[in-house]
Amino acid sequence: MNSTTSQVLPKVALVGRPNVGKSRLFNRICGGRDAIVHDKPGVTRDVMARDVDGRFTLLDTGGIGLPEKDAPSKIVQAVEEQVFVAVESSDLILLVVDGREGVVPLDEEIAARLRKNARCPVHIVANKCDNERVSDSVHEFNRLGFGEAIPVSAEHRVGIGQLFKTIHSNIPEIRFVTEEAQEDRRIKITFVGKPNVGKSSITNRLLSSQRLIVSDVPGTTRDSIALDLNYPFPENRMGKFRLVDTAGLRPNSKVDSSVEYFSNLRTRRAIEESDVVFLLLDAMTGVTRQDKALAGEVLEAGRSLVLVVNKWDLAMEAFKKGGIEGFKNAKDFQRNYREAAEKELFFLPKSPFLFISAKTGFEVSSILGTGERIDHLQRMTLPTGRLNRTVHDLIDARPPKRMHGKPFKVFYVVQTGYRPFRFRLYCNRPEKFEDTYRRYLEAGIIESFDLEGSPIRFDLVGKE
Ligand code: GDP
Ligand code: GDP
Repeated sequence: MNSTTSQVLPKVALVGRPNVGKSRLFNRICGGRDAIVHDKPGVTRDVMARDVDGRFTLLDTGGIGLPEKDAPSKIVQAVEEQVFVAVESSDLILLVVDGREGVVPLDEEIAARLRKNARCPVHIVANKCDNERVSDSVHEFNRLGFGEAIPVSAEHRVGIGQLFKTIHSNIPEIRFVTEEAQEDRRIKITFVGKPNVGKSSITNRLLSSQRLIVSDVPGTTRDSIALDLNYPFPENRMGKFRLVDTAGLRPNSKVDSSVEYFSNLRTRRAIEESDVVFLLLDAMTGVTRQDKALAGEVLEAGRSLVLVVNKWDLAMEAFKKGGIEGFKNAKDFQRNYREAAEKELFFLPKSPFLFISAKTGFEVSSILGTGERIDHLQRMTLPTGRLNRTVHDLIDARPPKRMHGKPFKVFYVVQTGYRPFRFRLYCNRPEKFEDTYRRYLEAGIIESFDLEGSPIRFDLVGKE
């Protein structure tokens, strides 16, 4: 079997409030002008990334989301996003603080977030320790909860050697990811949903994950309509996806959204090309007619469907501020939302629901894993014996309505395809197979084999 091996360098992220000297330090660690600028497509413009000594990739998240003018509330939000990106992507986080100023409230805020969310080591780097007097005062930073701060001066090249030692002793080995050529298939995914539900925001949020390696699909130039995404899952396994139809998602190229016919056609084509479709719903508005139509279209096309409830931050915020009338808490609201949506979209094939926020990044990382799981499910071959027992049990439990004449009877079932699942039912009276009954059997098979999200086609063959 052909296979190629690629290296994944550990990632080290610099985080910290503005003006503590992150960019200065970044350049100092990279050794100045000679460093190779990582112009990897997909590494967001806002994140600087460079390989250092072929041993690790250094990220400066300081550029994410910063407002043009000083707006304190915006700065807090920007820092929040930076921390999110660092937490999602890094093997080591360096929290940079200003050694001269000591601990300020925003440092405490960042440290609190890191203590809560970081899954990798965090070290404090006290910059601007230009002289010994300042270096001696860095014990103050111990109270941020990450041990002794490392005093450095990016400006005067002080303490950089010690910093390198800390980095080297805290990063994991270089990982080698093996990709089997035989498994070169990419899972094609697409996001659909009404305007303003957050399609571009989610795409951008996904693309800002540093673990993700993004490349334009050859042949789709400029107004790119597909992107290849490689995502290393924890157990050294490379998840390979293709994001279909991104042209309409990019903020600066919202193509032809006014021409409804064109965009409908485009959506339909994207759905047909996909393996798994993510339908975005708005947490605060519930299911609309348009959502229902889109869900119907996805299932009619025979595609697996995942429901993504976006803007969940708004619901959580509302509960923080005193609640939403009629609901005990966010969990209660979530359960109700799901139940109401499932009632409205009664034809769903047990689709998973993800509650996420493109704005804060909450649960966004679950999207690709779910896509992979659902794609795997929809390609299964079900054992014929168990399939037959399941269908017969379902029919026994709830026989179809008896009109005049003989009752509906199924003799034998075989699977004839997948993606979507196709089952051929040999039965006595195919014309008796009503839509509600079809749905009953579909739901029963899905339940029994745990086939979340995949629609089922029945093909009835009559014989006496
Ligand atoms: P960032 O916003 O965290 O990326 O900070 P910058 O790298 O842009 O630095 C902010 C300011 O601090 C600039 O004026 C730098 O020249 C200054 N600065 C950075 N490192 C040092 C240092 O080690 N000592 C002193 N005295 N100033 C520094
Ligand atoms: P699209 O038309 O579906 O691509 O939607 P956009 O991604 O352009 O988002 C529409 C609006 O909703 C923008 O103002 C976003 O900032 C906002 N938005 C998107 N996702 C979220 C979210 O998770 N929470 C909140 N509060 N706003 C969001």
